[in-house]
Amino acid sequence: MVKTFLPGDLPTMKVIDDIYSKLSENVLKEIQGEQLQCKYKNDAIFLDTKEKIKTFLLSKNFYEYKFNEEGNFYQDLIYLHGNIKVDNLLSGNTDSEEIKVFLRKYPKEEYGKEYDILETGYKGKKISEIRQQENDSFPESAEYQLIKKAFDYGKIHADDRNSILNAMDVPVCPYCNMNYTMKYGKERNAADIDHFYIKSRYPQYALCLYNFVPACPVCNSKLKGKKDTTRQTHVFPHEESYGKEAEFEILNLIELSSGKSEKAELKLINHGNNPKIDNSVETFKINELYDFHSSYAKDLLDKVWIYNDSYMEELKRFISEKSEDIKGIKDIKELIFGRDEPEEIYARKSLGKLRMDLLRQLGVYE
Ligand SMILES: [Zn+2]
Repeated sequence: MVKTFLPGDLPTMKVIDDIYSKLSENVLKEIQGEQLQCKYKNDAIFLDTKEKIKTFLLSKNFYEYKFNEEGNFYQDLIYLHGNIKVDNLLSGNTDSEEIKVFLRKYPKEEYGKEYDILETGYKGKKISEIRQQENDSFPESAEYQLIKKAFDYGKIHADDRNSILNAMDVPVCPYCNMNYTMKYGKERNAADIDHFYIKSRYPQYALCLYNFVPACPVCNSKLKGKKDTTRQTHVFPHEESYGKEAEFEILNLIELSSGKSEKAELKLINHGNNPKIDNSVETFKINELYDFHSSYAKDLLDKVWIYNDSYMEELKRFISEKSEDIKGIKDIKELIFGRDEPEEIYARKSLGKLRMDLLRQLGVYE
């Protein structure tokens, strides 16, 4: 995972402003006559004007807008751990922290009707069994239905989708830092729009600009799918990345140098055991995917062994006689291994993080 480094002026770009003016108007039309209220940092907000809707949709902190539906009993229920039995919820006799949290959030005195429905319809079942029928199994509140209708992602026209992706300017998928997601043709874009907070679980954020992550189809559809990722559980690429907290390393340097092993064993090492990094690595199968790039790692390693310090000194002497641009060892290193780049640059290149992490592990750069 690398950071997306979105342009600072993204929400005020003309193309984005035009699209979101149109969208806000559309949303307002859907909720006309009904009330849609949410909380933003303890302030109650009625989404009853185009401007307020637009402010919400373009907010970098969209997730701070809390809609009542976010605590929707059935939605939260569906996302409990799959092996939990409904009976445990009903009896309340449990050691599971997850169930305790749920019961505290939804006291039986206040949610009698919902618990009754569980008692009559779902007793004896596991959450995973209910989940299979997901959308048609539980009644939805009127507010939840309104939110789904108002913020329907289908409202964004395909051309606008491409324009948004092009304006975001993220040429490589931030989740894998492997596949290109760039602009092609006149206005097309090869990326998928991944909803970091997924649409089915958080329909209120389905149109929020900063909930969109330009991602490759593999990471978006095949790997992430409907997994419930949040800022609390996973690394959110608009705000953070693995950075130096988790770095790729070749694990078997000694075996490779003695010739006992031919294949470089690559792994992303989570130095501080940050659980959000562990979850993201697992969701996007980073270690499995990068196993494929072990030959890249081996080639880089061979290069480091060939161009040792004395060889580079010799090269420096030889080249600096012919070129004024080459002055120090660093210039020679950059000529051979590529530039020493900050994340802002390498995030835009396929395997940029792998290259920089390995060059640091192998002592080429600091
Ligand atoms: Zn990807």
